[in-house]
Amino acid sequence: MYSHAFSILFVSFLALTLLVRFWLASRHIRHVLSHRAAVPAEFAEKIPLAAHQKAADYTVAKTKFGMLTMLVNTAILIGFTLLGGLQWLSVEVYKLSGGGMGYQLGLIVAFALLSGLLELPFDYYRQFNLEQDFGFNKMSKALFLKDLLTNTVVGAAIGLPLVWVVLTLMEKSGELWWLYAWFVWSGFQLLMMVLFPTVIAPLFNKFTPLADESLKSRIEGLMQRVGFASKGLFVMDGSKRSAHGNAYFSGFGANKRIVFFDTLLSRLAPQEIEAVLAHELGHFKLKHIIKRIAMMFAVSLAFLALLGFLKNQVWFFTGLGVAPLIVPGQSNDGMALILFMLTLPVFTFLFGPLTSLSSRKHEFEADAFAAHHTDARDLVSALVKMYEDNASTLTPDPLHSAFYDSHPPASVRIRQLNLAVAP
Ligand SMILES: [Zn+2]
Repeated sequence: MYSHAFSILFVSFLALTLLVRFWLASRHIRHVLSHRAAVPAEFAEKIPLAAHQKAADYTVAKTKFGMLTMLVNTAILIGFTLLGGLQWLSVEVYKLSGGGMGYQLGLIVAFALLSGLLELPFDYYRQFNLEQDFGFNKMSKALFLKDLLTNTVVGAAIGLPLVWVVLTLMEKSGELWWLYAWFVWSGFQLLMMVLFPTVIAPLFNKFTPLADESLKSRIEGLMQRVGFASKGLFVMDGSKRSAHGNAYFSGFGANKRIVFFDTLLSRLAPQEIEAVLAHELGHFKLKHIIKRIAMMFAVSLAFLALLGFLKNQVWFFTGLGVAPLIVPGQSNDGMALILFMLTLPVFTFLFGPLTSLSSRKHEFEADAFAAHHTDARDLVSALVKMYEDNASTLTPDPLHSAFYDSHPPASVRIRQLNLAVAP
C-alpha cells in the first residue's frame, strides 16, 4: 500500500523539481539576454561591451546545456528506479558474487561505474565543446583521460574501505548503526581535510611555494595584521586545465595553507591579490569555516538517522522499483545506500535557497572584513577582473541566483563595497 503512495510522492517531487529548475533556467536565459545589449551603468567604465556580451553568451550556453543534462539525468534516475534498472543490476551482481559482502560492495561498485560512464559524454562535451568554444579549456585530451583514471583509482582507494565499514556497521551493529556510521563518516571528513591538500590535490596539480618575495611579504604583513598563522603560501598550476582563476584555502589546524591559481596571480595586481586573500581570511577569522563544518556534521547526522529508518521500510525499496531483500533473509543494505543517495536530492532541492542564503550572508561579512583590513577599492577592481575572466554574468535572474549561487551577484557585492569606501 505505502509502496504506491511513495512511488507517487517520488514522481511528484521529481516532476516538481524538474519544472522549477526548467522555469528558473528559462527565466535566467531571458533575463541575461534582455540585458545583453548594454553593460550595466555602474560597470560601464570598467567592463567593455564585448566582455559583457561574451559573459551573456557563455551563461546562456551553460544554462541550456544544464537543461539538457537535467532532462537526461531525470530519465536515468527513472530508468534506475521505477523502470527496474537497479533491480536488474542487483540480480546480475548477485549471480556473479553469490551474495554476502561481495554482493553489497559489488552492487555499489557496479552502480558507481555505470553512472560514471553515463556521465562521461557530458563531462567531455562540457570541457571540449562548451568551455573550449569560449576559450576556457586548457586541457589536452590526454590529461582528461589521465584525470579520469586518477579519479577512479583514488575514488576506489578511499571509497571502498569507507563503504565496507559502513556496510559492516549496517549489518552487524544493530539498531543504532547509523549513529556509529555517523562517527565514522565525521572522522573520515576530518581526515580528508588533512589528506586533501597534502596527498590528494598534489596528484592532480603541482603546488609550488610562492616565490615572488614582495608579494609574499605583503601577504605576510596582512596575515600578521589579522592574526592568522599558516603553513604556507602555494601557487597551483590551474592553467593546465582551465583559464578560470581562483584562490582558496585548505586544511585546518597547523595544516592550513593558502593556494593561489597561477591564472589568478597573472591577472591581478599585488594589492588586488591582497584584498582577495583578505576576503578568504575573513571567512576563517569570522568562523564561517567552522560553522560550515558543524552544519555539515549536523545535517549528515539527521540524514543518517533518516536512512536508519528508511532501510527498514519495505515501501522505501518497492516504491522505488527494487526488492527489499535480494533473497529471503539477505538484507539489501548496499541498495539502501544507493537509493538514498539517488533520491535525497529530489526531496531537498526546494530547500536550496536556504543554504544559499546563509552562504551569501557569509560572503557579505567576508567582503566587509576585507574592506576593513585592506582597501575596498582593490577588492572591487579584483572582483571586476575575476568576473570578466570567468565570464560570469553581471545580470543574473535574481530568483535563479537565489536558488543556485553561493555568492551574491557581483553588482550587489560591489555596491555594498562602494558604500564602505564612501565617507
Ligand atoms: Zn567568499
